[in-house]
Amino acid sequence: MEKELKLVPILTTEQIQEKVTELAQKITEEYQDYFPLMVGILKGCFIFAADLLRQLEFPYEVDFLGTSSYGDSTTSSGVVKLTKDLDFNVENRHVLLIEDIVDTGLTLHYLCDILKRREPLSVNIVALVEKDIPRTVDLPVKYIGFKVPNVYVAGYGLDWKEQFRGLPYIAQVIE
Ligand code: 5GP
Repeated sequence: MEKELKLVPILTTEQIQEKVTELAQKITEEYQDYFPLMVGILKGCFIFAADLLRQLEFPYEVDFLGTSSYGDSTTSSGVVKLTKDLDFNVENRHVLLIEDIVDTGLTLHYLCDILKRREPLSVNIVALVEKDIPRTVDLPVKYIGFKVPNVYVAGYGLDWKEQFRGLPYIAQVIE
């Protein structure tokens, strides 16, 4: 028999939209003269990146990195796989990574390591959501939207077993 699934909203559409506007303003202040490369981390970033990028009022370029670490499970395997590399060269560029959620931080730690070896001028991170847990890795997270408790969340690009990415809000998934 199928287990019943409960979605408990924890961030509303309005809260998210307000926060995205706030983040876009901060990024505009600091990056407007840098012609940065904005790099979305697939797949979960796609809605956040689309909303954020459309509010940036300065010239920039866009690229994507693909990673997978969870497979279809909901706990971190700790193993990060690069499924899509950048199309752009990042040497001598300011790079801002756009991430949906920071959990253990292992994915971003791995990606920052790869990118720093390519000699960019800077690598920083904007994350919409960060889980409130102790981390074993150091990360250049410059902008954070929300801290959430250590629960599994879905919506606004984030999935639960590839479902619910299109929810316009973020909810805790209770199995
Ligand atoms: P980390 O490497 O920081 O542990 O995990 C990063 C990636 O795991 C995120 O980019 C996201 O794809 C996935 N992830 C971590 N926590 C959650 C969560 O609560 N919900 C969803 N949907 N994905 C998560």
